[in-house]
Amino acid sequence: MLQKLHFIFSNNRLLVPKDSNLSASLEKLQQINVDDFSNYLSQGLKITESTYGEHILIDMQKEQFVSDDYHMLSLREALGMLSIEEFAHVAQAWQYAIFLRHHKYCGRCGSGMQQVQWEMAMHCHRCQHRVYPRVSPCIIVSVRKGDKILLAQGVRHQSSGFFSTLAGFVESAESLETAVHREVKEEVGIDVKNIEYFGSQPWPFPHSLMVGYLADYAGGDLVLEEKEILSADWFDIDDLPNIPPKLSIAGRLIEETVKRIRQEKAN
Ligand SMILES: [Zn+2]
Repeated sequence: MLQKLHFIFSNNRLLVPKDSNLSASLEKLQQINVDDFSNYLSQGLKITESTYGEHILIDMQKEQFVSDDYHMLSLREALGMLSIEEFAHVAQAWQYAIFLRHHKYCGRCGSGMQQVQWEMAMHCHRCQHRVYPRVSPCIIVSVRKGDKILLAQGVRHQSSGFFSTLAGFVESAESLETAVHREVKEEVGIDVKNIEYFGSQPWPFPHSLMVGYLADYAGGDLVLEEKEILSADWFDIDDLPNIPPKLSIAGRLIEETVKRIRQEKAN
């Protein structure tokens, strides 16, 4: 019989058996004693399967689960502990939980919606409206000018103190590349060229897909959009400010840009 991996969320946190730190692997979620959750088991929803077994989602929503046997991990804490692949399983369960919470009622006619049995969707039997979990694409771009890298402190990064790459949501009817040009121009006033795809990362805060690019400066002076950007500058790669960790695509974009500049300097 397949093992079951239980993703149980209480008050927006993932429950993890306390005798483990989750750092080794998600396998620890197999050790959850379902008897502790007997009141909730009937809502358990199979969302997918992996090498670990069946993934079962139980969302206790605002219910506060208190037990000495469990840690309550925030999504960001889980991100810091797991590999990217393993975190993706947590992120998927979380995004499905949010999707189900937010689509109890039809956005078109207001009737109650039912979950579709054979795919992750909610359906309105009155007006036939069907909705799927939302994914919101965001571009994130590392810009270099010669041997310097552009880093900015966004309003959102004020508490962490990070200087990071520029990022923003893709707007309706926009290509990813157009979004890169627009976002950089809007936030810091410059033009970029040689846009190169780098990679992507799901970012479930709450349902983004970060699409990463590398780009070169093409012209213009730094003029900051004050509502979004507190500070931005061209930084020497040997004198970087406080930057995001490499578990985020921002951290990896910065690492790649620094690596390329170093290689060119060495040649
Ligand atoms: Zn409807």
